[in-house]
Amino acid sequence: MTSTDLATRPAALEAALPRVDTARVESLVAELLDALGEDPTREGLAGTPKRVATWLSSFLSPGPADAVCFPEPRLVGQMVLVDGVSVWSLCEHHLLPMNLKVAAAYLPGEEVLGLSKFGRIAQHVAGRFQVQERFTGQVADHLVATVGSQDIAVHVEGQHLCMSMRGVRMEDARTTTLHARGRFETDPVLAQQFLTIATRYRAA
Ligand code: ZN
Repeated sequence: MTSTDLATRPAALEAALPRVDTARVESLVAELLDALGEDPTREGLAGTPKRVATWLSSFLSPGPADAVCFPEPRLVGQMVLVDGVSVWSLCEHHLLPMNLKVAAAYLPGEEVLGLSKFGRIAQHVAGRFQVQERFTGQVADHLVATVGSQDIAVHVEGQHLCMSMRGVRMEDARTTTLHARGRFETDPVLAQQFLTIATRYRAA
C-alpha cells in the first residue's frame, strides 16, 4: 500500500461536513439576542451576531484529517505515543464548549505517521457538535485508517462547560474515555504502559 492510499482513506470515513449558512446564522443570533431580552443593536452587541457567525462558520469547517505516513521499517512493534494534544469542541446537547485532552498511541507496521498529524486528526474531529464518547471513537477510526493497523489506543480527558457551569464545585469534574483496539485491547502490559504514560500529567 502506498502513502497516497493511506492518506486518502480517512476522508472516506465520513460524509462531508455540513455547510454553514453564515448570513442566516448572523441574523438568527441577532434574533436570539432579541429573544433573550437584549437589544442586538446596542453598542456592545452591534457586531456580535457577525462575530459569532464568522466564528461558528470557521470552527465547523476544520482542516482535513488526511495524513501522510513515512516508510520506517525498523520501528515495527515499537509503541509511538503522543499526548498533550488539547482541542476544543462543542457539546451537542448544550452547545457549550468542551476541552478535550487527547493521548493516542499505535504500534507501527512498516510506516509511521507524522507526529503533528495526531493533533490534526483530533482538531478535525473536534470541529463539529460532539459528545466526548463519539469523539474518542472517531479519533480511533481515523488513526486506524491512517496507520493501517488495528493496534491503536486513544485516551481522552474532557472538561465540559455544561458540567462546570452548573451546580456547586462541578468545575473540577472531568470525564475520561478510553478506546483500545488490537494489541492495546488484548495485551495487558501494553495497555498499562499506555495508561501510565497517557495519565502521567493528570491534574491531581
Ligand atoms: Zn453538554
